[in-house]
Amino acid sequence: MIEVKELKETISSQNPVFEPMSGFGHEQVVFCHDQESGLKAIIAIHNTVLGPALGGTRMWRYENETEALRDVLRLSRGMSYKAAISGLNLGGGKAVIIGDSRKEKSEALFRRFGKFVNSLNGKYITAEDVGTSMRDMEYIKMETNFVSGLPESMGGGGDPSPVTAYGVYMGMKAAAKQAWGNESLAGKKVVVQGVGHVGENLVKSLTKEGAKVYIIDLNQDALQRVAEETKAEILTDLDFFDMDMDIYAPCALGATLNTENINRLKCSVIAGAANNQLAEETTHGKMITDKGITYAPDFLINAGGLINVYSELTGYNRQRAMQQTEKIYDFALEILKKAADEKIPTYLAANRLAEKRIADIGKVKLGY
Ligand code: NAD
Repeated sequence: MIEVKELKETISSQNPVFEPMSGFGHEQVVFCHDQESGLKAIIAIHNTVLGPALGGTRMWRYENETEALRDVLRLSRGMSYKAAISGLNLGGGKAVIIGDSRKEKSEALFRRFGKFVNSLNGKYITAEDVGTSMRDMEYIKMETNFVSGLPESMGGGGDPSPVTAYGVYMGMKAAAKQAWGNESLAGKKVVVQGVGHVGENLVKSLTKEGAKVYIIDLNQDALQRVAEETKAEILTDLDFFDMDMDIYAPCALGATLNTENINRLKCSVIAGAANNQLAEETTHGKMITDKGITYAPDFLINAGGLINVYSELTGYNRQRAMQQTEKIYDFALEILKKAADEKIPTYLAANRLAEKRIADIGKVKLGY
């Protein structure tokens, strides 16, 4: 069983690989290099007890290799928890390519990367992530079948964002049920921070149900478009944390739940799509619980995207992906209730359930 441990954020220079792998509980880390294409990538396989490690490939201009390693270890571990808590037969993995996604992409680089993925014989399955696109996945697919998140024209599921948004909406309804005893969002004041691919779809569902939605984004065009389409109200001040609201939905960046913002928040529910919303899991998870806010853990309610790519592995069907995503409501409610009963932060209740599933199924697989 994976132990509940705080993530080690520091990677020491003497033991840069095995110490953090041991701290995070990883199985395998693969360093991939190709002189010709300039590929420098790291594939991290965290846990494969439930199934192959699935997780996207991120392309990012990391300051240094340590930062890239830290990111891939942290993200791949997160994928194990996300898959486990969502009831999927998948393990957790992730890859990072060190480089500038605007300037350093090439067909050769992604095909070479695809060959590395293929060499793992299906232990790791890749997909799109920050800095990579469906086009890049098409190149990877030329060298391996262990790639998901392909365009519909290639038998894939296409853009997973509407599915992710549906899961967030379901998770938000579960949180409303826990907080107010009723899952209805009609009349609730919801602030959606970020109206990109996921946020826009979420706003559509919320306004359709009759919620009073306020939107905020750095991108003025996106704001105007979503406001016109949905009648959501634009907030002009980016610093909205003091506002009177029922629900805060972070759908832009991670780590917006920090000490200052939590102290200012007046909402009863936090439920959004952004990854890693808690700046520090332990400290800020507890602060939110102490304030009596119902927090729907991000890695559970934004799992629709993962469910969508998982469904590609067995022959894609959007309806089936949506049905599976709808179950996020039940999973979220179970976790929120468990956290309330045990008086523990909701992220911790989710982590424990994920760890329990991995341990239980691990025993099943061993045959005792
Ligand atoms: P996106 O890039 O399409 O949209 C993000 C939006 O946030 C953009 O419109 C951007 O202008 C805005 N934004 C950035 N910084 C901001 C700030 N400081 N204040 C206000 N707005 C800001 O991304 P997306 O695909 O909609 O994903 C949103 C979040 O959900 C991300 O954190 C992503 O990692 C996470 N997520 C997405 C998916 C998916 O299926 N797309 C799945 C799981 C998790």
